[in-house]
Amino acid sequence: MRKKIIAGNWKMNTIVEDGVTLASSINTEIKNVTLRDDTFVIIAPPFTHLTFINQLIDSDKLLLAAQNCSTETKGAYTGEVSAEMLKILGCDAVILGHSERRAYYHETSDILIKKLDQVLKNHMIPIFCCGEMLEQREKGEHFKVVENQISEVLFDLSEEDFSKVVVAYEPVWAIGTGVTASNEQAQEMHAFIRKIISEKFGNNIADNTSILYGGSVNPSNASELFSQKDVDGGLVGGASLKADNFINIIEAI
Ligand code: PEP
Repeated sequence: MRKKIIAGNWKMNTIVEDGVTLASSINTEIKNVTLRDDTFVIIAPPFTHLTFINQLIDSDKLLLAAQNCSTETKGAYTGEVSAEMLKILGCDAVILGHSERRAYYHETSDILIKKLDQVLKNHMIPIFCCGEMLEQREKGEHFKVVENQISEVLFDLSEEDFSKVVVAYEPVWAIGTGVTASNEQAQEMHAFIRKIISEKFGNNIADNTSILYGGSVNPSNASELFSQKDVDGGLVGGASLKADNFINIIEAI
């Protein structure tokens, strides 16, 4: 069944104490929101917060995600955190290929293939991000860019593994800028993504794939974006750092 998902990417924000307070508020307030059976909320705090936040979550609607993981299983990789470590800390999901990681840490499709393998081996949900830069959209290359990002990393998966993936379309020009893709732009790209998935894996798998929109989602624009036919929820950055805003966005799904 295609799931509706609202995921909050906290990036490198909050110290542990503030992160625990934020997660605790979300955990409490979410219980007052009526969510359908097919709807889930995910929060992705920094690595350092995961143990503490995992201990306080007691809503079955709230899942925990990491923002990244290592390409490797274990060993001499100073500073890295393996997918197994994250699974043991209580993570249900891992964000992969966020545009900030692609831009600042040079994450390529080859790197993402390895990370994806680690996440799947450890039975977590990969939230795979894709999205074009402004110049690419202006040149009309946005569909090709997104198709390449998706096909290079996800299209060698088995049907069974692909079915575990959540796709997040995040146009880079909309991330953290306050500029949101229009409802039409979001729907157009989500429909395109579903089409290429269908061509590769068939209609049934495409229909069941959750495709989230990310890029300056806030309480005012969430409901229109989420009402688009192929938009199954959102990956939310800045607005996920305030419990009230995040809850308002969850209420819009
Ligand atoms: C993100 O970082 O994934 C994101 C969508 O950020 P923002 O909502 O702040 O644009």
